[in-house]
Amino acid sequence: MGAIQLEKVEKWFGDLQVIKGVDLTIDDGEFVIFVGPSGCGKSTLLRLVSGLEETSRGAIRIDERDVTGEPPSGRGLAMVFQSYALYPHMSVRDNMGFGLKTAGAPKAEIAEKVEAASKVLKLDDYLDRRPKALSGGQRQRVAIGRSIVREPSAFLFDEPLSNLDAALRVDMRFEIAKLHQTLKATMIYVTHDQVEAMTLADKIVVLQAGKIEQVGSPRALYERPDNLFVAQFIGSPK
Ligand code: ADP
Ligand code: MG
Repeated sequence: MGAIQLEKVEKWFGDLQVIKGVDLTIDDGEFVIFVGPSGCGKSTLLRLVSGLEETSRGAIRIDERDVTGEPPSGRGLAMVFQSYALYPHMSVRDNMGFGLKTAGAPKAEIAEKVEAASKVLKLDDYLDRRPKALSGGQRQRVAIGRSIVREPSAFLFDEPLSNLDAALRVDMRFEIAKLHQTLKATMIYVTHDQVEAMTLADKIVVLQAGKIEQVGSPRALYERPDNLFVAQFIGSPK
């Protein structure tokens, strides 16, 4: 579960084409990073995968199923936003279980899944606290926990660490890497931070002006950049 395929995907906003024929295959369990300068289309591409934006042309498949035109709720993906809006009046437990509750899951099942997710995220000692009694990193983990309990086939992150200070960013980078190892779930992660890309990714997708410049492992991109743009962006000596 969690293989994602993009075929000749295009996105137009009126007369402005922001995604220009993207072909991409993401394997189940892969950690894929979209990287590139501001305005190159990273967020838009992620929103097309999630269904938050409609594709203008082309197709998106998840586990072989064509989901083009389907709303986000039908795609079984979790979008983790950078502003992790938790409910301040609810405990960590209730914040994490909220999505399942509104989906009508039985209480016992919610409790079980929240317990399990809280262990993975090392939040099991904090389940009865309110968000304001947590650190920034813990709050972010609660936001991720809300997704985990829904058992998505893939997690989509859009610059999830950009609001955090430098020290916490490094901590959270480790947390996310560990989470990927534990869950073995497909993750697509948008960043404009090369260090984040190089340390987290199985596969990096370098975007420029709505097109893919190169796809490859951090090492392949560093050692064998296809062009000067990739070389300069990744910081390799070519
Ligand atoms: P990135 O995430 O790489 O910084 P975005 O995907 O946010 O880039 O934006 C890509 C381009 O699409 C930018 O030129 C941006 O201004 C434009 N864009 C994004 N969303 C919209 C929208 N809803 N309407 C019109 N233009 C948009
Ligand atoms: Mg963006």
